[in-house]
Amino acid sequence: MKLRGIHHITAIASDPQGNVDFYSQVLGLRFAKRTVNFDDPSTYHLYYGDRTGRPGTAITFFAWPGARRGTRGTGQVVATSFAVPRDSLDYWKTRFDKHQIFHEALPARFDDAALRFTDPDGLMLELIETVRPDDVDLEYETQVPRKFAIHGFHAPTFEVQRSRKTEDVLGFLGFDVIAEEASRKRFSVNSKLTSGCVDLVERADGQFGINSAGTVHHIAFRCADDNEQLNWREQIAGRGLHVTPVIDRFYFHSIYFRESGGILFEIATEGPGFTADEPAAHLGETLKLPPQYEQHRAEIEEVLPPILMGPKPKTMG
Ligand code: ZN
Repeated sequence: MKLRGIHHITAIASDPQGNVDFYSQVLGLRFAKRTVNFDDPSTYHLYYGDRTGRPGTAITFFAWPGARRGTRGTGQVVATSFAVPRDSLDYWKTRFDKHQIFHEALPARFDDAALRFTDPDGLMLELIETVRPDDVDLEYETQVPRKFAIHGFHAPTFEVQRSRKTEDVLGFLGFDVIAEEASRKRFSVNSKLTSGCVDLVERADGQFGINSAGTVHHIAFRCADDNEQLNWREQIAGRGLHVTPVIDRFYFHSIYFRESGGILFEIATEGPGFTADEPAAHLGETLKLPPQYEQHRAEIEEVLPPILMGPKPKTMG
């Protein structure tokens, strides 16, 4: 049994509107779902990805207005990376300059050109050029030309103090080492998919990160269905790791456990997906609530700040 790659990556943001503007307007991702954090319905959970926010493309945010900045460090996903087609980094550099977004070229990563940049909360992001981007659905309106568009995730970087145990966990989840470069090891469950890869870096003297705005909260991997998930759950528990019961996230089912290096892992089912409660053409336009919160919609809407969609003057060229 093998996982199928990355399902989603969830990070923390401070300002919901700034988050929507950045990911949908500047990066050109589809705003795929506007819902609440199911564990704290007074705050947003925002999702972005391809046309329907499919697994492998979905970056998601807990938006905590006024949250102070966290600290990047070991026990975290320290860089969240996206795949872009070859010869697109010049376009992105110009775009980031125009929007006054911090960016810097990185040395080639496993021979692929890479550009580092940050979101409004300082979350570390990367664009990595790739010859064979994942097949994602880009049939939606965006300011970013198709030939430069983001094609879901590329290998994110995990940082841990001692890599051995994390390597063991990745191995048991079905990941193989496919490349090595200095202190970086690339693991993959499917070398044909950029979203099937993760990079592990050991930093023995690295301070533990502190989760708050601008840091990754957890990474989720994909499994086929509920049966496979139960099977994973048994195996994870069997290895002495504390794993949660299956939790219904409405758009998918999830289990969570902390791997030995400190990173919070989730295993989520492929479906049912974001079209479960609204048509693909209208994703993200209105607040969607899971059934258990629908009766509290009025109170929930009252405490959530409004989010406006669409190009605004400050993000227009
Ligand atoms: Zn998650």
